Amino acid sequence: MRVHHVVAGHVRPRVGVAAVCHVLVVEHPEGLVLVDAGFGTADLVDPTRLGPVGRLLRPDPDPSTSALAAVLALGRSAEDVRHVVLTHLDFDHAGGLSDFPHAVVHTTAEEWAAATVATHAPERLRYRPIQWATSDDVRRYDGEGDEWRHGLRGHEVLPGITLLPLRGHTRGHAVVAVEGEDGVVVHAGDAAFDASSYGARDPRTGEPLGKAPALRAMELAACRQPWRLRPNHQVLRRLAADPEITVVTAHDDRVLPAAT
Ligand SMILES: [Zn+2]
Repeated sequence: MRVHHVVAGHVRPRVGVAAVCHVLVVEHPEGLVLVDAGFGTADLVDPTRLGPVGRLLRPDPDPSTSALAAVLALGRSAEDVRHVVLTHLDFDHAGGLSDFPHAVVHTTAEEWAAATVATHAPERLRYRPIQWATSDDVRRYDGEGDEWRHGLRGHEVLPGITLLPLRGHTRGHAVVAVEGEDGVVVHAGDAAFDASSYGARDPRTGEPLGKAPALRAMELAACRQPWRLRPNHQVLRRLAADPEITVVTAHDDRVLPAAT
């Protein structure tokens, strides 16, 4: 399966660091599959949909920076996107769902519960139900699932695409593994913000990335279960050390490969 790495939104907070929303567009035999959805075009037109925290992050309003724009740029249509697999439902990952209302959505049962039955005040700020109000078919995966690789377990939601629970950033966060034509791509979502946390290398030069303290500060501020941060980075480090696996993370643009 061919995997395209695209940018579906930029945040430009006044305090903190600018960051991208890195999304995968997978050419799957069942149609296009998105891994994460970034911001939707409706969010960019009307940032009040994102609530008070979302407005502070000041997403770039340019609609050419969305998953939909990326799909159209590949010469495909919104209807070609049949599935969206989410690492989690934070507003900078689930916003694009409103551009693909007919797509089947895949998430962990725990994340769906956190987002829809949230009673914890900070969770009410990070999840915006308006973003998935038009998604009729949401499939939720309960428990740890089947053995995958490197001691991880998960749910194969489509042939070659596995949702691997890795809680911490949110209660039901997962990473998503895609069997691509050039090896396995693991989208780590927000399990790490700074890709140097798991020993990532610059895809152009092969050099190890330097520490990005501003991204780490943002990670700590947004993390629901901070005690899981370091163990999760260790898991990603194990995956990244496997020559068959490429690990990317949502917000560190240094791991974005050149346009594909
Ligand atoms: Zn995020």
